[in-house]
Amino acid sequence: MQEISLDQVDPSTYDVIVAGAGAGGLLTALALSDEGKRVLVMEKVDRVGGVWHGYWVDGFRVDQGLHVITRVTRGAFVRFLKTFLSPPPEFVLHDGWDFRVNDKTGTIPSSIGETLRWPLAGWRGRLGLVKIGAKIKTMKLEEMKKYKDISFLEFMQSRGATHQVTLDVMQSAIYMAAGVPITEASAYEALRTLKDTDKESSKLGSAKRLLLGSSEYDEGYVIGGMEGLVKRVVETINGDYVLNAPVEKIHEQDGKVTGLTVAGREFAHTTIVSNIPLWSMDKIVQSDSQETRDFFERWSKMAPTQGITLWLGLDRIVIGDRKNRVLVHPNPNRWIVSISSFDPSCAPKGKELVAIAMMIEPGKSVEENVAIMKGNGLEKYHPGILDHIEMEHVQTSYATRAKLIPGQTDLDRPGPRTPISGLYIVGTDTAGSGVGLQQAAQSADGALKAIHEDQSIIS
Ligand SMILES: Cc1cc2nc3c(=O)[nH]c(=O)nc-3n(C[C@H](O)[C@H](O)[C@H](O)COP(=O)(O)OP(=O)(O)OC[C@H]3O[C@@H](n4cnc5c(N)ncnc54)[C@H](O)[C@@H]3O)c2cc1C
Repeated sequence: MQEISLDQVDPSTYDVIVAGAGAGGLLTALALSDEGKRVLVMEKVDRVGGVWHGYWVDGFRVDQGLHVITRVTRGAFVRFLKTFLSPPPEFVLHDGWDFRVNDKTGTIPSSIGETLRWPLAGWRGRLGLVKIGAKIKTMKLEEMKKYKDISFLEFMQSRGATHQVTLDVMQSAIYMAAGVPITEASAYEALRTLKDTDKESSKLGSAKRLLLGSSEYDEGYVIGGMEGLVKRVVETINGDYVLNAPVEKIHEQDGKVTGLTVAGREFAHTTIVSNIPLWSMDKIVQSDSQETRDFFERWSKMAPTQGITLWLGLDRIVIGDRKNRVLVHPNPNRWIVSISSFDPSCAPKGKELVAIAMMIEPGKSVEENVAIMKGNGLEKYHPGILDHIEMEHVQTSYATRAKLIPGQTDLDRPGPRTPISGLYIVGTDTAGSGVGLQQAAQSADGALKAIHEDQSIIS
């Protein structure tokens, strides 16, 4: 894909226009390119990628956000990249989760045997966990859906599972996925996260995992970071992109999309994929239809998650392993990952790049949030990190465009179709299970399927 100016745009030379160059928009464009389609991407700001990007700070390569990729072997995000990029990018798996509760560390137990040996709780806690763990592991997706409108804490309380350490560990695991504490997270989304599934497994499969544990641990990092990945995706897309091109209006006539307006200029087109956040679409879509206006108005109130990532460039290697560390006490909700252990090219030789991530605590300043991150057990358990800081960089932004709370679960989302024929929506707030990049990729999957279905009806 080449960058062109607005003056050079001839909309009739493209098969599809993509509005917004975030992960959802770019992955859709990537797959369409493979089918031989030409795509025009209109991006509001002066770079592509949305919150999917990376850059350099004082010799360290950081990503926007932690960008630990969930489902490295099974997920839609990695499938897109491995299918459409040649040679495929290389991913490195995590070596496991490491939850710290006071002086003890343990992983989320994946089998009855592991639960009975769980170092983070005494006997009563372990037995309670066996019971609730068995329930979650064997629960069918249909049953989980029944709990979409209650919080995970309410679900746990209704099952008598109130052991505090267990709740805190689950809180830490779910917080990063749902963007909210377990008092607010939809129980359906939390249960899916804990079971780590989007699809049904057989009774035998569930029972086996329950007894023997799961080998499906599947999280990692991409070699070259997000900067390299986005660059390769952009190079592979067939078409052009325009930067500083905010889509001001999307037009409709007789229920069909007819084009869009950018910088006061109209461009006619009958197939548009919008990656613009749903919360601003009601101001952009111009329609006489009450149904269409109600549709976008309904989604204009979606609440995003607010993430904060503290990048620390260390003058020597302090952690040096590929574990996914979570500090649970005194406050749940902090992740520590040594990114340079996955990909040494993101730090100068002999140095280390560490990412600490959490959801922003509302009502507190960025400085206060950073102080919380540095405070929560870091001085005590990882003093070397704080003693060897050479570079410090803070990022804040929405981590995903919709919190996984009742009313905003993936079951509640509208996409990929809209009431306007030919206008599709992608992005983390539109549809698709999973979180972050995985969810953006799932939404792109949905839009591609809808486009194919509609085209087969036309032809
Ligand atoms: C702190 C943080 C931590 C994260 N950690 C992880 C992680 O560990 N793992 C993971 O998988 N994901 C993570 N993510 C999330 C992931 O990066 C995002 O969820 C995903 O990239 C969002 O994709 P999207 O398709 O919703 O698009 P967005 O990124 O929202 O992109 C939308 C694009 O549309 C453009 N746009 C908006 N309005 C207009 C307009 N009117 N006209 C034209 N263009 C417009 C925007 O400028 C933007 O480029 C993290 C993100 C953050 C910020």
